[in-house]
Amino acid sequence: MTQYKVPLRDMRFLINEVLDYPTHYASLSNGAEATPETVDAILEGAAAICEDVLAPLNLSGDAEGCHFDNGNVSTPAGFKEAYRQFADGGWQGLSFPVAYGGQGLPTSISLFNTEMMGAANWSFGMYPGLSLGCINTILEYGTEAQKNQYLPPLVASEWTGTMCLTEPQCGTDLAQIKTIANPQENGSYHINGTKIFISAGEHDLVSNIIHIVLARLPDAPAGTRGISLFVVPKFLVNEDGSLGARNTVNCGSIEHKMGIRASATAVLNFDGAIGYMIGEPNKGLEAMFTFMNTARIGTAIQGICHAEASFQGALPYARERRSMRSLSKKRDLDFAADALIWHPDVRRMLLTQKAIAEGGRAMIYGAAQIADLMFDAALKGDFDKQKEHDDRLGFYTPILKGFLTEMGLESANLGMQVYGGHGYIHEHGMEQIVRDARIATLYEGTTGIQALDLLGRKVLLTSRGKCVREFTGIMFGLARKRVFASGAIGKMARTLIKRAVEWNVLTMRIMLRAKGDRESIGSASVDYLMYSGYVMMAYFWALQADKAAELLQNGKGRESPDFYRAKIQTAEFYFERLLPRASTHKTCALASTRSVMQLDKDNFAFD
Ligand SMILES: Cc1cc2nc3c(=O)[nH]c(=O)nc-3n(C[C@H](O)[C@H](O)[C@H](O)COP(=O)(O)OP(=O)(O)OC[C@H]3O[C@@H](n4cnc5c(N)ncnc54)[C@H](O)[C@@H]3O)c2cc1C
Repeated sequence: MTQYKVPLRDMRFLINEVLDYPTHYASLSNGAEATPETVDAILEGAAAICEDVLAPLNLSGDAEGCHFDNGNVSTPAGFKEAYRQFADGGWQGLSFPVAYGGQGLPTSISLFNTEMMGAANWSFGMYPGLSLGCINTILEYGTEAQKNQYLPPLVASEWTGTMCLTEPQCGTDLAQIKTIANPQENGSYHINGTKIFISAGEHDLVSNIIHIVLARLPDAPAGTRGISLFVVPKFLVNEDGSLGARNTVNCGSIEHKMGIRASATAVLNFDGAIGYMIGEPNKGLEAMFTFMNTARIGTAIQGICHAEASFQGALPYARERRSMRSLSKKRDLDFAADALIWHPDVRRMLLTQKAIAEGGRAMIYGAAQIADLMFDAALKGDFDKQKEHDDRLGFYTPILKGFLTEMGLESANLGMQVYGGHGYIHEHGMEQIVRDARIATLYEGTTGIQALDLLGRKVLLTSRGKCVREFTGIMFGLARKRVFASGAIGKMARTLIKRAVEWNVLTMRIMLRAKGDRESIGSASVDYLMYSGYVMMAYFWALQADKAAELLQNGKGRESPDFYRAKIQTAEFYFERLLPRASTHKTCALASTRSVMQLDKDNFAFD
């Protein structure tokens, strides 16, 4: 099995050369400490723990899984020790405020680490990963007392957090939530109900777990306008911060899952558990969106993690394994057969994986700069700017989550395919990547739900296409510089202009049709999301190729000429082999609603 190596060279290319993070950090109120040297030291330190501690537990954690015993859950062998190293390294606190024990660095730095931790061992990363959203929610909506009580141990990784939304009858449609919160005279609430599928809901890594729970007040209006948010600790917390009595929230069981088997997915029973409201009554879902947006970008990164891990597994195998002779001539003359990597179809698979991993990483790093700007505006108290950046990030989020997780799954499948039948065998780790990647298109809002959020809410309802016009404006800006250039770079620039125009026209046509046919939105949405993803990734590939060409020409790059040439060649592959898929998605998005809706529900099958 291939040992995962953090792709530091690619990360540095994006950070220092393509997206010029040093200048970006210098413009932020919390960016002074994020010097290139500090960022590099963080990347290297995080890479060491990911490669040496987390990656070696990936296969064994999957094979062993978590154990449930009478309400208690234990993680696989080695996880406790690894978690201690993660906590002692202060990795959780990188981007959280100094006031609560963090290091106060920009959010993007923590997102860089999310990728390496997730590629090394996604199941492990779920435990601290769920805490990130919990911390952000308390930071934004908690009272001062709540912040002081819960944040320091969460930031220090002494406790972890959860997100308790899903119930047996509903995951997507949270309007159906039944968990009830009864107010008590002392200002607390008694929570009653059952939550299912709760990641990190119960485990043995920390002394306390802080559940963030959606529930209804007894007199709340029906639907999403009657949902409030509560913090429910596993152990109650005394005034001095010490742990008090065990709260009545208990783990009923854990799920036996297809993948991410070392991550505990719990059924939690709240039997009059003591909870405290966060934010305002009946506005819980709004507050929970803080949590969900953080979690959705984190899940988008999961797509990149599996694309990268699977590519890293497939590449050495394709270089070593031999099969038949290459189509044009013998390549490896000292051997009876040529290596797989000489066969065009194997190259297609490897290049697709590489294009997804590196293109997706660029998309995430681009969005991470917007997240930094949003937090910066909040720190400066400039709420108009904060909203502006939040809206921009809100446009990226469903595209990143939906498109990158679907593409990550494709890449994971291709990695297994490169191994042939051996990919199906557990010991190589390739089939585990497929199983682990599968969940990413389901949780944190399925691809279908991301697509409705993108097209229905972000593009049509709230911005009437403005978010597309803004993004395509950025595409025009890049393409204009190179539109008359010769060779690959000029060709990419001209394609980018064509796609930018096309994206706006597609949006307009769907908008016009939706006026008379509301179901056309639902029937077009996933194709629209995939179209948007392919075109957005094309921009980020053109951006990388453009910078690589510039650095090749002026000789000022930090990387080798081969590195830059490989970037341009991978961009060409993306434009010629993957971007054309956008045209099919466009055609499908514009196809009639009739062919989707005309079949009677009783006629789908005949007994
Ligand atoms: C391993 C794992 C970990 C999880 N972790 C957590 C967690 O930590 N916390 C938590 O609260 N939940 C968690 N979940 C739950 C997860 O978020 C939900 O399963 C997911 O949101 C989908 O909800 P559902 O399963 O109820 O599917 P449903 O909502 O029943 O949806 C079923 C299908 O119908 C589609 N659909 C539903 N409504 C519509 C619509 N209006 N239009 C079009 N299509 C629609 C969906 O896209 C989906 O394909 C986890 C789940 C798993 C499996």
